[in-house]
Amino acid sequence: MALLHRPFYSGAMSDDAKLRLDDVRAAIARAAKTAGRKADAVTLIAISKTHDAETIRPLIAAGQRVFGENRVQEAQAKWPAMLAETSGIELHLVGQLQSNKAAEAVELFDVIHSVDRMSLVKALAKAQGATGKRPRYFIQVNIGDEPQKGGCATADLPALIEAARGEGLNVVGLMAVPPSGIEPAPYFALLAKFARDHGLAQLSIGMSGDFETAIMLGASHVRIGSALFGARG
Ligand SMILES: *Cc1c(COP(=O)(O)O)cnc(C)c1O
Repeated sequence: MALLHRPFYSGAMSDDAKLRLDDVRAAIARAAKTAGRKADAVTLIAISKTHDAETIRPLIAAGQRVFGENRVQEAQAKWPAMLAETSGIELHLVGQLQSNKAAEAVELFDVIHSVDRMSLVKALAKAQGATGKRPRYFIQVNIGDEPQKGGCATADLPALIEAARGEGLNVVGLMAVPPSGIEPAPYFALLAKFARDHGLAQLSIGMSGDFETAIMLGASHVRIGSALFGARG
């Protein structure tokens, strides 16, 4: 991967965060250019799960405005204060969502990437009615049809998209985490085909280890944690 590997200096967190953000943004721009795409066609979601506000604030100070979390409760504990400090922050939920947390998720998040079953679609529709909030949604696809992995089975995708649209969810795209340890490109390409088939413009694919490949294959959103924050403890 083309990222520089910068050490983490505990005493220079702000500078360090900015350097890493600059590195990731430059790598995104290079990959977009290679793919004949505009760099601003790719949104960088900084995945801040497990990191506390003190670690996140330097990234906000460096200009990052789009963040992702994987747990509703963790996000509720740390984000309201930061949202009050800085306007224009967009919060994405990228982790599995339990139906009983749907209302809280709809209340806090601007975008939810993990819609993967009919019962959750119904819970989200109800939560929209109760809260008056209308986030954007990605349908998460279990693109390798792996047992015990999040996301809807590829065979169930057409019905799930139709149901979500029918329930009034603003479905903008598809999200997937490809099988680990093997070349992700065929899975990204398959997800892109499904998105085209269903008239969905956005693709949430690409993490720290494979975002350049994802951008080549049409990612509109890359979800990057460790390349920005270091390995999670
Ligand atoms: C943690 C996480 C990421 C970020 O992973 P990194 O490898 O740290 O970049 C992206 N997407 C999802 C769904 C995640 O849970």
